[in-house]
Amino acid sequence: MVSIRITMREFEDNCQEISVEKCGIYIHIPFCRKKCLYCDFFSGGAKNVDWQLYADAIVNELKERRHELLNCSSAQSLSVPTMQSLSNPAVEQCALPATLSTLPATLYIGGGTPSLMPVEVMREMVAEIKRIVGKTDSWEEFTIEINPEDVTEDNCRAWRECGVNRVSMGIQTLNDAELKAIGRTHDSAAALSGLRMLKRYFDNVTIDLIFGLPNQTIDSWRKTVDTVLREHPQHISAYSLMFEEGTAMTILRDQGRLSFPDEEVCLAMWNYLTDTLAQNGYRRYEISNYALPGYESIHNRRYWLGNPYIGLGVAAHSYDGNNIRRANPHNIRAYISRFNPDLQQKKQSYKQVGSHSSNLLLPNDHPRPETTGAIKEVGEVLDRVPFYEEEKLTDKELLEEKVMLSMRMAEGLDLDEFRTKFGENTCSLLLKAAEKQIKAGNLALHGNHLRLTPAGIMISDDLILQLIM
Ligand code: SF4
Repeated sequence: MVSIRITMREFEDNCQEISVEKCGIYIHIPFCRKKCLYCDFFSGGAKNVDWQLYADAIVNELKERRHELLNCSSAQSLSVPTMQSLSNPAVEQCALPATLSTLPATLYIGGGTPSLMPVEVMREMVAEIKRIVGKTDSWEEFTIEINPEDVTEDNCRAWRECGVNRVSMGIQTLNDAELKAIGRTHDSAAALSGLRMLKRYFDNVTIDLIFGLPNQTIDSWRKTVDTVLREHPQHISAYSLMFEEGTAMTILRDQGRLSFPDEEVCLAMWNYLTDTLAQNGYRRYEISNYALPGYESIHNRRYWLGNPYIGLGVAAHSYDGNNIRRANPHNIRAYISRFNPDLQQKKQSYKQVGSHSSNLLLPNDHPRPETTGAIKEVGEVLDRVPFYEEEKLTDKELLEEKVMLSMRMAEGLDLDEFRTKFGENTCSLLLKAAEKQIKAGNLALHGNHLRLTPAGIMISDDLILQLIM
């Protein structure tokens, strides 16, 4: 993690000393053409979306929260947000100075389906974001998630002009029957032609694949992997199908209306993937992520390393790099109203919400984000309605997160760092818990790092649990 310490006159009233770390911005675009059957990400339909209003809300949220980019003691995340601050000249003055123009370093627009956003709206939104944070150089990494149907020459050119330098396309599989079974709206021809076009416009292309799909065979999976590899994407994320609670896929499985490859076949699929990708020069740097040398995702590594990031938009999450996590509400209308102060219906919608009921802001059909420990509801604005959830992680939770996230990465857990953060005693207990699995060949010590071995990856969830119990 790069850390710069700067003292700035402009902030003397508020901040004696400002510690700034490189951080990332995540923007959630919660709209999709149609819900895929397996998906539990927060998204709504894309019909009748007022894209400009949503983009304005994102920009206004960042204006309110830009002080979080400065790790400043008197501008902690709880202290500033008020509706009035959107039009308060004092907040305008708080724009980051030019000397911090390299920060934040990464931007990730995910969803949902960000490629549905009209390019002219995206262009303005990104330009405004750069202005707010005082960024004049290009993003170290600027990723957008794209669905194959949206890949056109015009869009590719426009995304590039916005500063996008990494594109992530959800292919999932190149078998049409499998795509249909999971409710995707594209077919294999669109996925392949989209991938080829993206490769012509961008030199950092990543694709998503899923194995364990309904009626998927090892042969069809091999064909998908081999065909994709012939196009040489720089990065591949591959996941086994997850059965999240409440998704249509889980319901169909429980009703016995779909059949899935068994565990043994899924294991063979995973083995084929890892062997083939390794033979083709891809390094697995995280349990589900493979990259050609130099193409590991900078932004996603922030999540695994526990670096700070600001999440903007409906259902977006943020982390301050220390112990505070924030979750934005799962309600598109409330979000847009909250961050568009000029909207006529603003007051009305908040009155409907009531004076102290966050449940009404989070409709029942969209589960609230899972949180552990005590949740503190903050951001009380406009008639004191709690607008987002903030959670202060306990030491135990911080330790669990550190182990879980680090063990997912190829380099594993840095024991020196762990010792410094959690103490010699805790580190000894962790190593004691690891002893049996090191002997069994599921964990290994490499210098001062504890890692999963290839055998351990297959049972990683159990192993990680054993380490943190
Ligand atoms: S396009 Fe992506 S975010 Fe949208 S429903 Fe499908 S999987 Fe979920």
